[in-house]
This record gives sequence, structure tokens and C-alpha cells, in this order.
Amino acid sequence: MKYIGAHVSAAGGVDQAVIRAHEIEATAFALFTKNQRQWKAAPLSTEVIDAFRAACETYKFGPQQILPHDSFLINLGHPVEEALEKSRAAFIDELRRADQLGLTLLNFHPGSHLHQIDEEACLKRIAESINIALDQSQNVTAVIENTAGQGSNLGFRFEHLATIIEHVEDKSRVGVCIDTCHAFAGGYDLRTEADCEATFAEFERIVGFNYLRGMHLNDAKSAFDSRVDRHHSLGEGNIGKTAFSWLMKDPRFDGIPLILETINPDIWKDEIAWLKAEQQG
Ligand SMILES: [Zn+2]
Ligand SMILES: [Zn+2]
Repeated sequence: MKYIGAHVSAAGGVDQAVIRAHEIEATAFALFTKNQRQWKAAPLSTEVIDAFRAACETYKFGPQQILPHDSFLINLGHPVEEALEKSRAAFIDELRRADQLGLTLLNFHPGSHLHQIDEEACLKRIAESINIALDQSQNVTAVIENTAGQGSNLGFRFEHLATIIEHVEDKSRVGVCIDTCHAFAGGYDLRTEADCEATFAEFERIVGFNYLRGMHLNDAKSAFDSRVDRHHSLGEGNIGKTAFSWLMKDPRFDGIPLILETINPDIWKDEIAWLKAEQQG
């Protein structure tokens, strides 16, 4: 069973995201549980939490179909102590918000070294941040997303994800989300079925499908191995439709949220319908 959806807006309240997901006939969705460009947010009220849980019940979304995304401001590998502390506090708050909503996953970008510490030190710092955050929260798995490797962002190599996981103490609460656009821009080819087979064989060897908790399905405006993060609608970018069709037929991607972050929300419903149809075709 594939769970397919998009990163929908939570404008007007997190419960509205559930309704938006239902409207595009999604069987999965992603959302921000607070404004992703601000550090602070008001705590979730009981009314909002109840409305979200009720909407999930009505529209048949379980926690395994929902992949909340944390704020873009958070850098769990920040080289400067004070900024690192701020990020860690915000991340713990995100984990707790997800838990309050009855969710079990939180997707985040690993972090950036800002050219002030080396890669290895930054990856260990990220793992330490995860250890601290898991210690101060419960029920929610920290889901590390691979990145395009823009600027000093780490996470663009599968080895980065593996190193972080290696240093996380509670392996039962750490996982990964693979973004197809980020993988392609980071140097993992997906243009042909053979490319997809090779890329995910590499993923299995370095990280392991047992850690896969979600996927971001995006085509890429950016070129292969460009380390530039520019999403595109499915089939309109440099990856092309083959990869997404291939993914839909592979049972290793069953049972996890498969989330579109493609650039035109007006066609999400069509993209979802196409993906659903590709499972059989
Ligand atoms: Zn993504
Ligand atoms: Zn991206």
C-alpha cells in the first residue's frame, strides 16, 4: 500500500491541512505545525489539537501517513554554541508539537557547518543534537532528509546520513526521508530504471531501507550533480517521469508517506492521481 500526498498549507490551523489533503485525494500529507520562518510559535491549544485529531479520524489519515516538517531556521549542526542551543530548543519544541498532534515522525534537514567546522565534526554535532532532543521528547522519530548539498548543507551523501545514524543512541527513533530532487542534485542519478536501481542499491548498502520513513517526490529544475535545490513538477524537470513510475511499482516504498513538494499546487491532485495509476500500470 502506497501513501501518496503533498506538503499542504496549514494556513488557518493545522486541521485545515488535513482537509486540504483530502481535497486533493491524497492518502498522505506533510505540513508545518508552526510558521516555518519564525523561531517562536504559540503552543498548540487543546481546541486545535482536538480539531486536528478529529479531522485525521474523519478523513482516514493515520500517523504513518503524515510527515510533519520542521522549521527552516533550525541548524542542528551549528558551529556556534549559542545558535546551536537555540536550534536544539526549537527542535525539541517541534518534536513535542508533533507528539501532541498524535504524530510519530518529524522530518528535518540535518544541518550546515557554515565553513566553520569540518564535515565530520558537524555530523557528530547533529547526532548529539538528535540524542538530546530524543531524550527530552517521546514517541516521535527524528527523520533526517537528504539534501541537495547547497552551500554548506550536509546530508547530500548517503554516507552523511549513515554517520549521523551511527552516532544516534536510540536507533528505534531515527530514520531518513529521501528527496528525489535533492538526491539527483547531490549526484545520485535517477533518469533511467537502471539509474534508480543503482541509486537505491547504494542507499540500501550505505543506509538501509529499514531506516526509510518517508520520501519527497520532486522532479528537478536543477541539473544532475549541480548541488542546487530547485524542485519541478513531475515529468517536467531533469529527472523525468521514469523514476516516479519506477518508485510506484517498488514495494520497498510501501507504507511510508510519499510527499510531493512540486512547484505547482494546482496540479497536485493530477500528480497524485497519476502516481496512484502508475502503481498498476
Ligand atoms: Zn524535501
Ligand atoms: Zn528541496
